[in-house]
Amino acid sequence: MEQGKQLVKIDKWFPSTKKCSCCGAEKPMKLFERTYECSCGYVADRDYNSAINIKNEGLRLLALS
Ligand SMILES: [Zn+2]
Repeated sequence: MEQGKQLVKIDKWFPSTKKCSCCGAEKPMKLFERTYECSCGYVADRDYNSAINIKNEGLRLLALS
């Protein structure tokens, strides 16, 4: 274990692919949809949007602990 690092467990049901990483809104995402387009105007690659959501959720959980 490296010093100064914390393991954060993200709930496996966390809706990372459905959530807009810009405004936090959620919408259904079909499996074949590769691009996330939100009504707020945010457009990003599905996996990229998901990765940002997971990072943000990790930071949020860290802040709570
Ligand atoms: Zn949005």
